[in-house]
Amino acid sequence: MDIKNKVALVTGAGKGIGRAISLALAREGANVAVVSRTAKDLHSLSREIGDVGRKALIIEGDVTRESVIRGFIKETATKFGGIDILVNNAGVGRFGRIESLSTQDWDDMFETNLRAMFLCIREALPHLKKKEESIVVNIASLAGKNAFATGAGYAASKWGVMALSKCLLLEERDAGVRTIAVCPGSVDTRFFAHESLPNPNREKILKAEDVAQATIDAIKLPQRAMVSEIEIRPTNP
Ligand code: NAP
Repeated sequence: MDIKNKVALVTGAGKGIGRAISLALAREGANVAVVSRTAKDLHSLSREIGDVGRKALIIEGDVTRESVIRGFIKETATKFGGIDILVNNAGVGRFGRIESLSTQDWDDMFETNLRAMFLCIREALPHLKKKEESIVVNIASLAGKNAFATGAGYAASKWGVMALSKCLLLEERDAGVRTIAVCPGSVDTRFFAHESLPNPNREKILKAEDVAQATIDAIKLPQRAMVSEIEIRPTNP
């Protein structure tokens, strides 16, 4: 896909991987609708998108609310004239052994990481399918293919993301919708600061920009070529 003048919508765009992908898309020439809950992150991101000559649509919203999702999909399509690229990135991690993991933490992960992704895809599909070429990028994790102690809720939600991505690919490939599931290992973001995760060597783990670059490279392939999964991990953590 030639990203120039395309419309992208990125959830969880204010920080970390979502922010890096939003900026990388803008640098390639996309106008980007950016969604997350913290207004000041979105305003600074919008300025950076403006600095590279593209438009940003700021949407302060919580993806766990279905009405909010319906609203921002509609607003993006109306104000930007459709949607070509949907990046489902918003996600949270709550870690703890199963015997002590709270119901609230379990629900937070499933509502943000999986339910919101399903709702965004369902609501965006009518717009994506109006285009000859369109793309859904789902940010999963290597935890979506592996298991680890204290990761039950997080890994289960990300395994769900992988299943959702595979079903979407099979259902919509003939309509011209490519689906890319991105599975990063440890990335140096606020997310990885959780006290129950092993303390990473921040110099050696991935940067959000690495994940963005791999994602952009896959998007830019011609329509006939679908990178259905990206595994990206630190070389020597
Ligand atoms: P991050 O730095 O914590 O950024 C997460 C972004 O999502 C923030 O902008 C946050 O903004 C937004 N967000 C969270 N809950 C939201 C909600 N309910 N509604 C709207 N926005 C919400 O984390 P990250 O590392 O960039 O993570 C991004 C994705 O990558 C997640 O899906 C994560 O599971 C995945 N991932 C991360 C790693 C890693 O090592 N960092 C590895 C593999 C996969 P607000 O709080 O302002 O809403």
